[in-house]
Amino acid sequence: MLAHNSHLEADLLVLGAGMAGLTAAASACSQGARVVLVEKGAAVGGSALYAGYVWTAAGYETMREVNPAGDPALARVVVEGLEPGLDWIRSLGVAVGPEVVVLGYGAGHATDMAGYLGACVTLVRRHGVVLTGATAERLLHDADGVHGAVVRTVDGELTVASRATMLATGGFGGDPELRAQRIHPRARNLALRANPGSTGDGLRLGLAAGAAFAGERAGFYGHLIPSGVAYDDPLEFVTLTFYHSEHGVLLNLDGRRFVDETLGDHLNALAVLDQPDARALSICDERVHRQWMLTPYVAGAEAPDKFRLAYRRGARAAIAEDLAELESLPEEWGYPGPAARDALNAFNEECREGSPTPARRLDGEPLLDPPYYVIELVPAITNTWGGLRIDERARVLGPDGAPIAGLLAAGADAGGLYERAYGGGLAAGLTFGLRAAQTALPIGARS
Ligand SMILES: Cc1cc2nc3c(=O)[nH]c(=O)nc-3n(C[C@H](O)[C@H](O)[C@H](O)COP(=O)(O)OP(=O)(O)OC[C@H]3O[C@@H](n4cnc5c(N)ncnc54)[C@H](O)[C@@H]3O)c2cc1C
Repeated sequence: MLAHNSHLEADLLVLGAGMAGLTAAASACSQGARVVLVEKGAAVGGSALYAGYVWTAAGYETMREVNPAGDPALARVVVEGLEPGLDWIRSLGVAVGPEVVVLGYGAGHATDMAGYLGACVTLVRRHGVVLTGATAERLLHDADGVHGAVVRTVDGELTVASRATMLATGGFGGDPELRAQRIHPRARNLALRANPGSTGDGLRLGLAAGAAFAGERAGFYGHLIPSGVAYDDPLEFVTLTFYHSEHGVLLNLDGRRFVDETLGDHLNALAVLDQPDARALSICDERVHRQWMLTPYVAGAEAPDKFRLAYRRGARAAIAEDLAELESLPEEWGYPGPAARDALNAFNEECREGSPTPARRLDGEPLLDPPYYVIELVPAITNTWGGLRIDERARVLGPDGAPIAGLLAAGADAGGLYERAYGGGLAAGLTFGLRAAQTALPIGARS
């Protein structure tokens, strides 16, 4: 590594040290590349530090079924790259648990993420350079492509010249303006359930270098959380997530169902964003409470009583002894009580007849077992799905479909993989992080 005070040279410059960035940097280092890894936060890890399950759809056909509008070639990289990716994680001595089912259609493994991210950064520190508290501000690019970046550190400006530069800044979930522009005008006010540093830097840098955007209005990965409750402690991101909305009923401000809730809480988050005021009332009965709310969402996860926790925190929540009590929903919530009661009675009747509207693909059971747990939920965002257009080698593409020389992207900075559907964020960062490293290796080092 050639180093002067304000100048470094590398084979691979990685911007962002979360799942995708650490994976690429560590893999490239392990194959002999000179790597500089730049992280904006005080510590490495990004949102990956809060995550636990490395998973994707259980097979390519399943991925196409749940994510039909996503780019098939990118989807194949994730599905077929998962097992080799897990082998790479295991090769670093990191604990990977047995296979579990995720979201009904996925398969994956509880993985020691702190262990994995720590092992990656140790590797990069040993063989390359890791800069924290450093923000990539500008790419060095000309007609021949991208040649590195200018990075702002506590000590001033640093120029890193590099054969390949990888954008791995975690998407734009943390930027209200970009969310409003690229997802939905109401997405401006979404709560964030992710690291706060992923504010679209990679997207801006890539677009300025001539990249194309993939996945306009593709949506985002997120979940439903109680309205009106502080949601800024990362340790509570999972505890206060109402995954089991998929077994209850969601009503909008007209007191009407508007989605097949059973397809997944992550899709319910998108559907609620489309509703007036981007809020909805979730109603479950005692069966759902016992069978789903009080059991882990994924095998091995914790299962606190989220309803009671949210209630204690001042959420708009109530327990109704029977459906008739829904009539007297607090007026200030804004939902028509009689309409809500009628909607639940009609839902139960339709379920008995086997034809609820909207249909219920995965749980067509009526809600007949009082009491009823009523809570207002709003969407919160983890990752964006739109991003820089890439190919299977993680090369960033221009509007003409040609790669921009020297520029790579992976993880949530890359778009096109998921369109209003989800097949794992860690898996995307892992598989495309490994692809990016491979693409960036100096010719002599490539296998
Ligand atoms: C609570 C929670 C639970 C989750 N659980 C799971 C799970 O079980 N399974 C799963 O598959 N996914 C899960 N996810 C999602 C998963 O964490 C993300 O999909 C994944 O981390 C995305 O990887 P990434 O590398 O794109 O971004 P990140 O891991 O977020 O990393 C991006 C990094 O880039 C840095 N950065 C931003 N701008 C700059 C800049 N200008 N210069 C330098 N650095 C910059 C950020 O500070 C950050 O450290 C979960 C997320 C959360 C929040």
